[in-house]
Amino acid sequence: MRYLITGGAGFLGVALANHLVNNGHAVRVLDDLSTGDPARLDRRVLFSRGDVRNVPTLWTQLQEVECVYHLAARVAVSESILYPQEYNDVNVGGTVALLAAMRDVGVRRVVLASSATVYGEQPSQPVHEALRPNPGSPYAASKIAAEQYLFTLGKLYGLEAAALRIFNAYGPGQRVPPAHAPVAPLFLKRALDGGSLVIHGDGRQTRDFVYVDDVVRGLAAASQTEAAVGQIINIGSGEETSLRELVRQIAAVTGREPAVLNNTSQGGVSRLVADLSRARQLLDYQPRTQLREGLRQLLAKDPQFGQQRAAA
Ligand code: NAD
Repeated sequence: MRYLITGGAGFLGVALANHLVNNGHAVRVLDDLSTGDPARLDRRVLFSRGDVRNVPTLWTQLQEVECVYHLAARVAVSESILYPQEYNDVNVGGTVALLAAMRDVGVRRVVLASSATVYGEQPSQPVHEALRPNPGSPYAASKIAAEQYLFTLGKLYGLEAAALRIFNAYGPGQRVPPAHAPVAPLFLKRALDGGSLVIHGDGRQTRDFVYVDDVVRGLAAASQTEAAVGQIINIGSGEETSLRELVRQIAAVTGREPAVLNNTSQGGVSRLVADLSRARQLLDYQPRTQLREGLRQLLAKDPQFGQQRAAA
């Protein structure tokens, strides 16, 4: 197949693009490099720098494409509270621009990278796709809006659309920016550099940490399976892990006991773990990498941690 991946120079995009070219597909990437880095893309991937909200750019990029993965987005929950308008512009506006350009060019298949944050606080776990979303941040709200546009415009324009609600992905290649960093690589970095680790809330809150290779297999299956069309599908590990447990696992793989500071500020939703029934049924999806092994691989394969280990 011929694919376009928006946001394909980011953490998940690079992993997906490289997986697809390794499996014989032709892949183009469109990314504005606001946070992405194309250096890790396989040479066979055709990279272009551009904004996903720019429809004429999309017209060019969509030529000859059979399926689009829409990953371009602003992705930090805490940052979205500071800049809701920007999150709306990119995450919602970018999705609408893409769908309109797909209609214009005649590209029919699209897979949206949505997020488990749309569930918010729920009365019971694990969360399944039929639950009513309860967004707790502009980021989560932007992802629900993107899903709604995907299926509304998808129906109107005759598109074959699927949305994957991805849980807390982690793995090699994930950035650890100075602010609003994702928790798994941030804690690993702190453990290695001997700094203290700040947990917001009491650390009993749970999340579903899913290794990047599992996410990539879910994404790949979603574009290649008829049954995914018109569906929202959870992609997670199905394992519920508290932040305290994450710290214990990181201590085990690094051999270092990080100092933990509890910050009394709000730590997000109290529990979040994926019900994977639909992913199993429709995509034959089965997560393969458990947290301990995923952290080991992150430590072994990501150069930013390799250098840190060597320096320690
Ligand atoms: P990322 O920040 O590494 O990747 C996003 C990419 O989009 C970056 O390369 C960035 O430069 C690009 N981008 C941002 N604005 C753009 C614009 N206007 N035009 C073109 N490119 C733009 O994030 P990621 O973790 O790889 O996430 C990829 C997608 O998966 C996002 O849509 C995110 O919301 C979703 N997702 C990720 C996770 C996770 O845990 N990583 C969980 C749920 C959903």
